[in-house]
Amino acid sequence: AAEEGFDIEDVEGAIEAAGHGPLPVLAVVGRPNVGKSTLVNRIIGRREAVVEDKPGVTRDRVTYEAEWSGRRFKVVDTGGWEQDVLGIDASVAAQAEYAIEASDAVVFVVDAKVGATDTDEAVVRLLRKAGKPVVLCANKVDGLSGESDAAYLWSLGLGEPHPVSALHGRGTGDMLDAVLEALPEAPAQTFGTAVGGPRRIALIGRPNVGKSSLLNKVAGEERVVVNELAGTTRDPVDELIELGGTTWKFVDTAGIRKRVHLQQGADYYASLRTAAAVEKAELAVILLDASENISVQDQRIVTMAVEAGRAVVLAFNKWDTLDEERRYYLEREIETELGQVAWAPRVNVSARTGRHMEKLVPAIEAALAGWETRVPTGRLNAFLGELVSAHPHPVRGGKQPRILFGTQAGTKPPRFVLFASGFIEAGYRRFIERRLREEFGFEGTPIHISVRVRE
Ligand code: GDP
Ligand code: GDP
Repeated sequence: AAEEGFDIEDVEGAIEAAGHGPLPVLAVVGRPNVGKSTLVNRIIGRREAVVEDKPGVTRDRVTYEAEWSGRRFKVVDTGGWEQDVLGIDASVAAQAEYAIEASDAVVFVVDAKVGATDTDEAVVRLLRKAGKPVVLCANKVDGLSGESDAAYLWSLGLGEPHPVSALHGRGTGDMLDAVLEALPEAPAQTFGTAVGGPRRIALIGRPNVGKSSLLNKVAGEERVVVNELAGTTRDPVDELIELGGTTWKFVDTAGIRKRVHLQQGADYYASLRTAAAVEKAELAVILLDASENISVQDQRIVTMAVEAGRAVVLAFNKWDTLDEERRYYLEREIETELGQVAWAPRVNVSARTGRHMEKLVPAIEAALAGWETRVPTGRLNAFLGELVSAHPHPVRGGKQPRILFGTQAGTKPPRFVLFASGFIEAGYRRFIERRLREEFGFEGTPIHISVRVRE
């Protein structure tokens, strides 16, 4: 490395940074208007603006990446909840329950000016039951005079209230220090405890694509559909299902089985549930309704799984309803609308007739194999060397940036760091990704490529 002009410590640092495993997840919960979104904005440093919501406008983005004191983690923002959907208590409870389920630690936000309300107390009970580490944020303490309001919140029994002004930034640093203490290094429920256990699958897709039908089919029995308010049942959230001789853990199946049809806020609710399931899973089976056009909502769900770095299988359901013409147009649509997951294995199934159910497991296994692929450094560099000499980067400003060497810094999904002599254009990066896939497979998995440029 040194002869290529890179400092060995830079190289090691870059590899370590690129190779980070899955990040721990922090959920920010609390009543409407206590300042959750404002706080999330502050935590993520406004690197990604949280758009001001109009009522009824879908807010699909619920997970953001953040960094504090050199540590990276994810933040789940529950601020987009429509409070009048279920009535305030039920909606706050449901929102908190989903967020808590998917998280490794929780920031519970209370409006210190208002004090603890009955709804706050209800959330505290949920937090106790969940047993996750909690940091209590006493928000809207904009000045010294508000500190005594914060002190009243000791009564919630969640330990020290951290006086914060999410709006002005006062106290957020101290609170984030407490958050880092509460957050494990790696997401426990996702990877730490599950080594050797059943692989975790999230069955996701927009409402009515056939998720519960498919689940019933693969579970081999019709189950009673529970018609209850979300968040009020205590049924198991994950189910172990044997398929193709292997036991798989389908995560958050309770969310699939609960048939809650909400008017407003349903999309947001679905997004939150999907995000929670994706966080807990290694692989997402994304179900689409083959009889309908691929929608923006379908694409959002795909993006969620890809951005979370999960292995992906696409399952086109309701295949029994397709005629020749629809099949023709569907293929065109897949090409134009689902280009971002052109690498995902695809199965055409029918939850109704059971068509091609047996193809699901091979697709899942192929995607997980791609997700875990590790390319030895020697092989990677032989490949890169050939690639670069056969297809050099275009000359820019009289210079020709070159990929000097690379390494795979991590798996699940595969992450690469490439070291270059100059800025590598996006087009050339995409070209490299394409060729990497041609050479090494990576079926069913997103891959990350970061490029370090020699100073
Ligand atoms: P959410 O519904 O919990 O996400 O709450 P928002 O973040 O949307 O905030 C609700 C309102 O409280 C907005 O008008 C914010 O500007 C205001 N707010 C949030 N944090 C603070 C704060 O620290 N101090 C003051 N004075 N107002 C705040
Ligand atoms: P979910 O909201 O994604 O869980 O979807 P459901 O499983 O409740 O299915 C929605 C509707 O689609 C129901 O009326 C199902 O009977 C129907 N459905 C599900 N799978 C199939 C299928 O493979 N073929 C046909 N024709 N209908 C299906």
